[in-house]
Amino acid sequence: PAKRPAGATPRAPSSGDDADACRVRVAVRLRPRNNEDLHFEADCVELQPELRRLKLRKNNWISESYKFDEVFTENASQKRVYQVVAKPVVESVLNGFNGTVMAYGQTGTGKTYTIGRLGKSDQSERGIMVRAMEDILVDTSSAADTVAISYLQIYLESIQDLLAPEKKNIAIVDDPRTGQVFLPGAAVITVRDLDHFQQLLQIGESNRHVANTTMNTESSRSHAILMRSSKGKEECENIARNEVVSGDGLPVIIKSKLLIVDLAGSERIDKSGSEGHMLEEAKFINLSLTSLGKCINALSENSPHIPTRDSKLTRLLHDSFGGSARASLIITIGPSARYYAETASTIMFGQRAMKVVNMVKYKVE
Ligand code: ADP
Repeated sequence: PAKRPAGATPRAPSSGDDADACRVRVAVRLRPRNNEDLHFEADCVELQPELRRLKLRKNNWISESYKFDEVFTENASQKRVYQVVAKPVVESVLNGFNGTVMAYGQTGTGKTYTIGRLGKSDQSERGIMVRAMEDILVDTSSAADTVAISYLQIYLESIQDLLAPEKKNIAIVDDPRTGQVFLPGAAVITVRDLDHFQQLLQIGESNRHVANTTMNTESSRSHAILMRSSKGKEECENIARNEVVSGDGLPVIIKSKLLIVDLAGSERIDKSGSEGHMLEEAKFINLSLTSLGKCINALSENSPHIPTRDSKLTRLLHDSFGGSARASLIITIGPSARYYAETASTIMFGQRAMKVVNMVKYKVE
């Protein structure tokens, strides 16, 4: 779990509302019907947004209702989703804590739309990454800090650098003293402004496209890491050192970081029957998602051992999910009865994540 950042003092464990504030937030978002869904009359979910609940439906059977932190209907705006799901995490990152925003769901249900949409021509379409960076840049411009990013993809348990594709197989290093995770080989680019950030995302996307075409896959996902950093040495004296070298060759000391993760399609967890390359790929995607599921189960059961070392994804999340880090999960689903099984399993994953409490609680004084 994440270690407390400098300047933060432990807060006595407490219960009730306070404990609730430390729980991983889980929201569900329903994608609007598309042409394929229209062939299926019934929806497999029934939303009760005012109660923050939803029920699963199959033929004439209706499940009990499941409670989430928020249930977004197909009409929810990108802005509202950002404000509810990501903004609290961004604010805590700006206060010196690590944080994670993750999207989980079947392929085609809107993970990339929610997380990665650039919205260059229509700002209302902007996804979480762009909105988060906008808030981080506004806050940072008034401080002596800079913002830097890395942009990565995990494929077959190998970390690829989407901003420097010539760098292969980026290693994860963890500092046993602080529990911090870092990637000394990855490119770290200081972001000048929002336009620059959007350009970097586009470069990353096109590198991802090239890499995926070479590997003959479309299934891998991007895992972006946004970092807030400072180059001022005195200011950083007490901060757990996590030095990397940015594009301009200067050392960057990371104060806190925000991980934004667009996960692989959750349907792959259940799929067997693939062959050859596809089987290999399915196994590795399963490894990431099942080990994430195991960590979530262990955290939700307050287990003393969280098996974060089992996959690259969970190793990356080690200092940013649980502990003092604040995390949100957005579960995306489609309405079609055809995918009832996938939708039900996605909802159950979200229900388990609702029980994850960040066990060590700290606050910045
Ligand atoms: P995923 O990343 O889960 O595979 P995508 O984000 O690519 O899914 O979404 C699949 C399609 O549905 C895309 O064409 C996307 O633009 C559209 N879509 C997803 N969510 C929404 C939404 N909330 N409103 C409008 N279109 C959406």
